[in-house]
Amino acid sequence: MSTPPDRFVALVALLLTPLAAHAQAPATPRPALTPYVRPAITPAATPFARPATPAVTPMARPGVTPFTSTTLTRVTPPPPPSSPPAREIPLVEKKVEELSNQQMSKNGQLALGINPAKWKHAETDNFIIHYRRATEAQKVVREVEYDLWYVASALRAGKDRYEKKSHVYVFEDEKEWKDYLDQSNSKTKWAASYAHGDELFLNIRGSGNTGTGSFDSITLAHETTHAVVARLYRGKRWPIWLNEGFAEYMAGASISARKQQSVKRFQRDLKAADLPLDKLAAMTAYPETMPEVHQLYQTSEKFVRFLMTEMPKDRIVAYIDSVMAGKSMSESVLSTYYDKIKDWDDFQKKFAKF
Ligand SMILES: [Zn+2]
Repeated sequence: MSTPPDRFVALVALLLTPLAAHAQAPATPRPALTPYVRPAITPAATPFARPATPAVTPMARPGVTPFTSTTLTRVTPPPPPSSPPAREIPLVEKKVEELSNQQMSKNGQLALGINPAKWKHAETDNFIIHYRRATEAQKVVREVEYDLWYVASALRAGKDRYEKKSHVYVFEDEKEWKDYLDQSNSKTKWAASYAHGDELFLNIRGSGNTGTGSFDSITLAHETTHAVVARLYRGKRWPIWLNEGFAEYMAGASISARKQQSVKRFQRDLKAADLPLDKLAAMTAYPETMPEVHQLYQTSEKFVRFLMTEMPKDRIVAYIDSVMAGKSMSESVLSTYYDKIKDWDDFQKKFAKF
């Protein structure tokens, strides 16, 4: 467990069973929660290094409602709240006993057991945040509140589906994070920040997935997407390709919308997105080598990006519902985008050119 690849392989091995089981039967309730971890970048650069984003001139984006419907051909669920959260979110400090949701996971309790007197707690509209430094917590809540709104909007989920506030733990520093991972018996010792069910464990000051030590908004948005999905689809587990592809796509999309900049600025070049779709769809576990993991993440991201940009984006909910109802990647494509593509071959050709 000393070098990054070993740790990663160990993680992958540990993830295999639950993911495989649930990916086969996506609608079954999920017992123990498995963290969805984004491959981390450890000092020695690995294939997961998110290539430096190309310097593209920022472009103003109009409008704040990202998922306005244009061509609705299916029954549409009630629209989500249409305005994004305020930019500055007041942090109302509270005692643990005053928090509206005091139910925490085992790992959450463990985190708060580390130097307990120093933890501060606050609530926002949709989250309960545990933190050490108010300025950092402020930054985190601004981003997670926005991400929640953005992801819920994309999934057409109203507030009723995420009423119960979920917990966010922002650790002091790398040392405290390591202490926590050691004690937590976590399978993710190498991890930077991660989502576990609907909770977020954030190592904001760590090396992060960028390897730069700077605040990593992309990783935060990626993990927040997992946490929001877990919150909206309680007890259900998305297949890996959908889960990771959606998280990767939404991370860039959410940040670009929040900053009102071109989405391209936050999208990497998907050079490794060359896994055939039928192979991607058949994946029920994370692969064991770095290049394969890289290929999985990028192909998944390209797939979701294709659906969200080349197909009517408001149909993504119907597409996800179809997959979660047990239909395959391709069957769901054909039934959801029936008027946009001729057949699976046609779709794959268009996807290859994209
Ligand atoms: Zn992920």
